[in-house]
Amino acid sequence: MTSKHQIPLPLPPSPIRDNTPLVPARMVNEWVYCPRLAYLEWVEGEWADSGDTAQGKRAHARVDKSGKQLPSPEDLGDEMLKTRSITLSSERLGVIAKMDVVEISEGTAMPVDFKKGKRPHVASGAYEPERVQVCTQAMILEDNGYEVPQGALWYVGSREKVPVILDDELRAKTISAISALRDAAASGHRPPPLENSPKCPRCSLAGICLPDETNLFSKKYTPRPLNPSDDPALPLYVQTPGARLRKSGERLIVETEEDSMEVPMIDVSQVVLLGPVSVTTPALHELMKSEIPVSWLSTGGWFLGHTTGTGNGNVAVREAQYRCAFDENRCLALSRNLVTAKIQNSRTMLRRNWRTEREDTTSKDQALERLKRIAKQAHNIDNVQQLLGAEGEAAAIYFASFENMLAKHPRSNLPNFSFSTRNRRPPTDPVNAMLSLAYALLTRTFTTITSAVGLDPYMGFYHRPRHGRPALALDLMEPFRPIVADSCVIQAINNGEVKPKDFIFNGPACSLKAGGRKALISAFERRMDQETTHPLFGYQVSMRRLINVQARLMARHLQGEIPVYPNYLPR
Ligand code: SF4
Repeated sequence: MTSKHQIPLPLPPSPIRDNTPLVPARMVNEWVYCPRLAYLEWVEGEWADSGDTAQGKRAHARVDKSGKQLPSPEDLGDEMLKTRSITLSSERLGVIAKMDVVEISEGTAMPVDFKKGKRPHVASGAYEPERVQVCTQAMILEDNGYEVPQGALWYVGSREKVPVILDDELRAKTISAISALRDAAASGHRPPPLENSPKCPRCSLAGICLPDETNLFSKKYTPRPLNPSDDPALPLYVQTPGARLRKSGERLIVETEEDSMEVPMIDVSQVVLLGPVSVTTPALHELMKSEIPVSWLSTGGWFLGHTTGTGNGNVAVREAQYRCAFDENRCLALSRNLVTAKIQNSRTMLRRNWRTEREDTTSKDQALERLKRIAKQAHNIDNVQQLLGAEGEAAAIYFASFENMLAKHPRSNLPNFSFSTRNRRPPTDPVNAMLSLAYALLTRTFTTITSAVGLDPYMGFYHRPRHGRPALALDLMEPFRPIVADSCVIQAINNGEVKPKDFIFNGPACSLKAGGRKALISAFERRMDQETTHPLFGYQVSMRRLINVQARLMARHLQGEIPVYPNYLPR
């Protein structure tokens, strides 16, 4: 018989398997706040700083400096003592905690956790996740032989100390949270996102978790703009032959024979080195530690490779990617999806950018009609060879019309560029030289982004793996070729940013001189910064950020969280 006053006894923690890492007490707090947050951070190693996390670091700055040592339980006397930054663990519970402060008084110990901000006005004195974290610390102290009558939270913002009563209910909740997090980690299943939760707008991982974008497919509500619309850090390009990149404190310094320039490392999202440019070892170490990728390009802009730190440790997403890559049907479905999107976006480019001074509207209508038909066919094709054929046919129609997007400047002093067909390796005319460089910049962008979100850029679904070829980056960038790479080439030409004197011919090969390369790179980066409304999610986002979201959505699709990979199809 159970009475209504009966308090459930805490269940024992779930058994710890061999090699199970100890769960940090902070992650138990996160689990109670949002299970997906704890999973993303602890199991998948995701992290993103926000205003809140930066404030939290400041609040801990003093207590993180270790001070007096914590005496052993037998040596506790009656005197009062404050010890800081104490790390202890409990094998029984499978948890570890770095305690901000442990106060010793009258032979007992009390963990005190520091929180930024002010004390919340709630009946229990503090939010549940924070009380669970303190309870975890208290139980670790108990398992190490200390008597712990209660815990406490110190709110830095209001300078108030709130006691945490260690009753049976809180202990049961704590043990159950520890077990649930460990079981989730062992299962390899990421918990689903919260639904329309007010917690998400404050969550530093919203841009990684994509809660509303993921829920869109199952719950059908419009996503809130939780993603930052742009990344404040930008790529740093170094292309002067002989330039040297070094670091000084928190800054990167680019030195050439003539001058030098400095940039704070926090403002740099990636470093792009073109041609004979060197980097010092300390600079490279710092870039790797900060997870800022370094891309190496030939002088002509050919993407040679990139250097990263230890990279994204999320093995589960790569496992899902490889499983898909070995499944012919899934590869075909993804290939069809990406190729169809590329054809649709090529059509959108022509429709939007066909110059009015090019009077041939009949051929415009014909080209758009043919591309529409091929996109429809591609959507239903059931083998890769036919898909390659459809892609080739669409590319031939698109590039046959490409010149119609280039401005004719009959009376201005701006030069006219002509284009008849796409050629490469080597490109033989200025427009093809620009297209080749723009595609190389796009390949570099997708390679670093796919790698940063935990995918393997070299294992694709449409492009087959080949030594040194970033097949997945090439797959994902297909729909973006017309709307990013071709678009920036067209803008650079039509705005008169590149001129015929910016090109050099060597036999049949045409390439850009340094000035032309610089102009095209800045047109490319401008395009990446341009804000656009995501047609599916409805919010404003920069192209740079959007590509990041798309790479994450591909990861979510591969792991089964969303049924289809949603392409970006501007109208
Ligand atoms: S964004 Fe929302 S669902 Fe995602 S981890 Fe954060 S709180 Fe959880």
